[in-house]
Amino acid sequence: MIKGVLNCTQDAESNMKKIVRFLNPLARLGEKEYSILFPLVTTLSVFVLSEFYSYSVYGSPDAVGSYIIFVSTALIIYFAFHDGLKGGITSSLITICYFLYIIYTRNYQGDQLRAGIQMTGVLAGLFLILSSIIGWLKQNIDSLIDSEANEKRRLQAIIQQLPVGVVITDIKGKVIQVNKQVENLLGLKIPLGYEVGSNIIVRSKKLNKPINLSQVSIVKALSSGKPLNQGVFQIQKEDGKQVYLQVTVSPIRNRNEVVIAAASIINDITQQKELEELKDEFIGIASHELKTPLTSIKGYTQILERIIQEMGNDKAKQYLKKTNKYINRLSSLIGDLLDVSKIQAGKLEFNYSEYDFDEMIEEAIDSFQPFKQKYQIIKRGKSNIKVYGDSSRTEQVINNLLSNAIKYSPNGNKIIVTISSSNNQVTVGVKDFGIGIPANKKKEIFKRFYRLEDYAQKFSGLGIGLYISAEIISRQGGKIWVESVEGKGSTFYFSLPINRKNNK
Ligand code: ADP
Repeated sequence: MIKGVLNCTQDAESNMKKIVRFLNPLARLGEKEYSILFPLVTTLSVFVLSEFYSYSVYGSPDAVGSYIIFVSTALIIYFAFHDGLKGGITSSLITICYFLYIIYTRNYQGDQLRAGIQMTGVLAGLFLILSSIIGWLKQNIDSLIDSEANEKRRLQAIIQQLPVGVVITDIKGKVIQVNKQVENLLGLKIPLGYEVGSNIIVRSKKLNKPINLSQVSIVKALSSGKPLNQGVFQIQKEDGKQVYLQVTVSPIRNRNEVVIAAASIINDITQQKELEELKDEFIGIASHELKTPLTSIKGYTQILERIIQEMGNDKAKQYLKKTNKYINRLSSLIGDLLDVSKIQAGKLEFNYSEYDFDEMIEEAIDSFQPFKQKYQIIKRGKSNIKVYGDSSRTEQVINNLLSNAIKYSPNGNKIIVTISSSNNQVTVGVKDFGIGIPANKKKEIFKRFYRLEDYAQKFSGLGIGLYISAEIISRQGGKIWVESVEGKGSTFYFSLPINRKNNK
């Protein structure tokens, strides 16, 4: 029973709302619904009431005075605004008819009749112009609002259909748009109007690591006007499946290029990640499996070397030298691949000790003896210090930089190695006069498997040497970078802290 009463009250309330909405021309803007019936019935009713008032209440037909002009003007404006041209003109025509009816029924004579007809004529013109202008304006505004709304709806439909999760926030960090994918991906609903706090917006039971759509990063993207990669987050779904999500925040600009909102895009990259993991696993297993027979081959070539030495066969000696060269190249490739899979697994080992930095550099340069006929490797400067770190890993970096310097300067003949030290760090530069690196690729080349497309065919390689070098340097607390002019050459630098033992 109470429920029934409640329902009734709610119905009455919503009906009342509907009526108020119907009567309010502002609320109807953009609806493009124009009726004749409503202005016709209402205007007629007002005039019938006016007649009733003058004859029955006031008792004189002359009671219909100049107020009727204001009333009818107001009615015409209202209906033109409510029902466009149809409404305004219907109301105007009824008003004109009523004014003629008044002249006819009040028995005006002579001057009074003339004045009445003249005034009705002028008012008729004014009413028709007024209702046409307002009605025309109203219909145009409706069309504009409607097309804008259509545009908005289309945009919303696109956002909803997107295969990625989208959360759009205004400049204050309030959520103004969110699509269904977000719920599918995160398993929780973000309500519109939700304010992104300074901490974390998305925290659900399913997330073992919360998605950081923090206001800080949204504000960062808004203020810098640049997209911001928030990184990859790993979450566990209800069925126990691990899902990888990548979040990017991009600023949205208006026509004047002013940033007005930010869009956070949540992308499910699980498949990509799984493939990557599979690839890493494969590289790890393959390089491990290749290493064992290669070690045996190396052993046998040593035995062969001794036999050939005893036999004194010069041709066989030459062939063996070449074989050794290729075995070493293969061995270093396999070593690099193994290092990559160790880095991925977080298992790249380091043996820390104090070593003579200049001696290590000298040894590294010496190992390039075979190239010295074509390339002059010039060493400039000395550090005169002992460094605490992994000497062979650092030598691996120098070897990589030197072999790249040789490989990527087919027409060069000089490589300059500079060494300098300050109180707390030692810096090495390897300068070549080769093909150089485009400015926008200087960071990319340190990424895993990255090779410059234009040269990939011409120069052999796997694109992992610099990736391993960067890891080795950063693990020892140092920095690696490159300065380069395309076509003129490059200088790769790295710096290492001298006494990391004390800084640790
Ligand atoms: P790889 O040489 O096996 O391709 P690296 O990781 O050592 O792999 O280098 C990555 C990429 O960086 C190379 O493919 C090359 O395009 C560029 N690069 C590295 N060193 C140089 C250099 N000294 N001069 C020009 N380009 C270089």
